[in-house]
Amino acid sequence: MERTISIIKPDATAKNVIGKILTRFEDAGLKIVAGKLTRLTKEQAGAFYEVHKERPFYGELCEYMTSGPVFISVLEGNDAVALNRKLMGATDPKQAEKGTIRADFADSISANAVHGSDSKENAEKEIKFFFPELAQ
Ligand code: ATP
Ligand code: MG
Repeated sequence: MERTISIIKPDATAKNVIGKILTRFEDAGLKIVAGKLTRLTKEQAGAFYEVHKERPFYGELCEYMTSGPVFISVLEGNDAVALNRKLMGATDPKQAEKGTIRADFADSISANAVHGSDSKENAEKEIKFFFPELAQ
């Protein structure tokens, strides 16, 4: 059993598709074991995307992530990290496989509907960051 973090980003919450996206996770066998609707502060977004600090889109990314509410959840299941990434599709929705969350709901490479942890190690760090009470 593995856990991962999903963030439904501001473009998707604005479109009223939180329920549709959560249904994709549930239909794929992932269990939602924690969740909250919140708005990230500049400090939280900056710290969360710290790995991208040197990338040219860092400022834009942090602006965007704080532009509206996000729904953050912890998903649990077999191979949860990889399964969530598969359901999400490629970072750029134009490259995302048909039927994936980003192909169906994302607007652009920056406003791309969802975030998902990219490794088991980062999943643990991200769970600790957003749900310290759940950290193992
Ligand atoms: P995420 O970490 O959000 O799950 P990802 O792992 O598919 O997405 P990363 O390379 O980690 O992609 O990039 C983090 C986020 O930064 C992307 O989801 C996207 O919102 C933004 N981003 C990535 N590349 C670009 C780019 N070339 N231009 C603008 N924004 C970008
Ligand atoms: Mg990433």
